[in-house]
Amino acid sequence: MNKYWSRRLDGIEGYTPGEQPQIPGLIKLNTNENPYDPSPKALAALASAATADMRLYPDPDVHALRDVLAETHGLAPDQIFVGNGSDEVLAFSFLAFFDAGRPLLFPDITYSFYPVYGDFFGIDYERVPLDADFQVPVSRFCRASGGVIFPNPNAPTGIALPLVDVERIVAADPDRVVIVDEAYVDFGADSAVGLIRRYPNVLVIQTLSKYRALAGLRLGWAMGDRGLVEALACVKNCINSYTIDRAAQAAAAAAVSDRAYYEETAQKIIATRERTAAALRSLNVHVLPSSANFLFAAPPDGRGEEVFQKLRERKILVRYFQKPRISRFLRITIGTDQEMDVLLTALKEILESPR
Ligand code: PMP
Repeated sequence: MNKYWSRRLDGIEGYTPGEQPQIPGLIKLNTNENPYDPSPKALAALASAATADMRLYPDPDVHALRDVLAETHGLAPDQIFVGNGSDEVLAFSFLAFFDAGRPLLFPDITYSFYPVYGDFFGIDYERVPLDADFQVPVSRFCRASGGVIFPNPNAPTGIALPLVDVERIVAADPDRVVIVDEAYVDFGADSAVGLIRRYPNVLVIQTLSKYRALAGLRLGWAMGDRGLVEALACVKNCINSYTIDRAAQAAAAAAVSDRAYYEETAQKIIATRERTAAALRSLNVHVLPSSANFLFAAPPDGRGEEVFQKLRERKILVRYFQKPRISRFLRITIGTDQEMDVLLTALKEILESPR
């Protein structure tokens, strides 16, 4: 901070993303990337987009991709907004739907970008504590408020909220927007997309970064009533007309169309998750039930931070949050079977050796 900074930045701390270190041989299980390759059709589309047409601006309204997304989700193209990663869609949503004065509600343990947006945009928010077993206390989100946002499945817990409970929250107050952040929905939770027809106040956000293995492409989208989508377009058009480059538009459409490929890789990830969870439990690690592509797991005797460090020394990187209620836990992205075997062997050795 120095004299040149705007007052807007007073006291602002940005989100700290998981590390992206360049360590050779690292087993990287810290930012919930997909261990399998993106769809070959998406990569082919990306390569064939690299033509002299790149001298031209991309379609600012992303029509072709919105058509594909609309068909995939059984919606109309004007019920879809596309952004540069779901983080951008989230940021635009905070600006579009939430204000100072009436607090936005989100869980106390959740995606830590939400309070960053709240602070930066001057939006009041209230953290609603999850239950002792990290379940969303549904009735506490059913009161009138300035809005609600939660991931489903939640992050970093991985716990999914049944669709009936999502609907209870959406229906409880039609005067505020409820955002369901479905970054991990395809690994085992039920999507709230079907609620859009009946509730003009629900916005569902998804991404190419996890299930579709394209975190490097930066593409996410929101789905909801036309009124909500128009607000998002308004925010975007006040900031940057061309958020999605030509190559990303082409590759994303091919990825979203290649359903068979991703269903297969997701099944592999789910099978590896269940096998890993069982193996961790047999080592006395407390593992929360996950519907995502990661596990939230607490090693015995409060050894979470120590295990995180010792895994790191062995070039296995998981995510550790030094935060209230969850400082015993590690968030472990599901890698390949082979990567998980290396992790399990290392973890066993660490837990068997004295602190
Ligand atoms: N929501 C949640 C809950 C996440 O964990 C992430 C990934 N860190 C995102 C949104 C953002 O994903 P992206 O910007 O890559 O689409």
